[in-house]
Amino acid sequence: MSRFNYFGKGDEYSEFHRYIMDDRLKMIDLDCVEYQPCCNEIIFIGETARDKGQTYKNTTMTRKIAQGLKCRAYLIFYLPIAKPQSLIDEGIKELGYNPYISFRIARIDHLNSNSNYEFEHYTAEEWVSKLIEFRIRHHCVKD
Ligand SMILES: [Zn+2]
Repeated sequence: MSRFNYFGKGDEYSEFHRYIMDDRLKMIDLDCVEYQPCCNEIIFIGETARDKGQTYKNTTMTRKIAQGLKCRAYLIFYLPIAKPQSLIDEGIKELGYNPYISFRIARIDHLNSNSNYEFEHYTAEEWVSKLIEFRIRHHCVKD
């Protein structure tokens, strides 16, 4: 049962739910909802996990939610680049984001199974640029 080999801890509700000994009950945590602050339009939802070189991750519910909302969804594998906290703090102060993390990201909302992920590699700078690009292309419903 996945509840016994799950690595990491969710919040207390997730922990409570995980340990209900009834396999008819299932839930997921939705990891991220990227949205426009001007009108709260959802840009994409994301499933995140630490990058261990894996090619498989179950994204069924994340894809279903995105398809229901008619928004994008991404599978986001992230890998912190080992640096002392002082260097990370310095990077954030200088650049406005933590540069010491890299990403392997696949768009998943169009897929119908947990396979055929087409990953692209991003540096922190590249991913921040992509997040900004979503804002630039946004046509606000409030305008
Ligand atoms: Zn807007």
